Amino acid sequence: MNEVMVNFWEKSLDMLTQSEWEKLCDGCGQCCMQKFEDEDTGEILHTRIACRLFDDGRCACRDYEHRLLRVPECLDMRTFQVEHYAWLPETCAYRLRFEGKPLFAWHPLLSGGRESVQEAGISMRGQTVSEDDVPEKEWLNYSL
Ligand code: SF4
Ligand code: SF4
Repeated sequence: MNEVMVNFWEKSLDMLTQSEWEKLCDGCGQCCMQKFEDEDTGEILHTRIACRLFDDGRCACRDYEHRLLRVPECLDMRTFQVEHYAWLPETCAYRLRFEGKPLFAWHPLLSGGRESVQEAGISMRGQTVSEDDVPEKEWLNYSL
């Protein structure tokens, strides 16, 4: 009997090694933006106001290793509960896999490079404003 090979990103999230888990991230940076929940509808409003540790030029965290200590609101996705996934963008690889959906063709694991994320208009690179530079009451002015 032949063994069927399954790409790691097609396995369920709880089957992934830590290394595979990290590779699943498409690096879009969208989860590092401030967001709001509409109390009436439950709708999540995404903004381009970036966490203070977000590096806009690299589209990455400045201190990923220590992020959970430095930014209390930054959650370890491996500990996510069901309700947390709704806070992620619909294009997020973790949300897609959590929902049993395939990755988009622009995902670096399929395209072979990170530029496809930028080309698909998914990356936050070059579009963000730091939360340190805008008063919180104005954050909704930067909705996506
Ligand atoms: S939204 Fe998802 S895929 Fe994009 S950077 Fe955040 S964790 Fe990675
Ligand atoms: S601490 Fe880093 S990973 Fe967490 S939200 Fe901020 S920039 Fe993103």
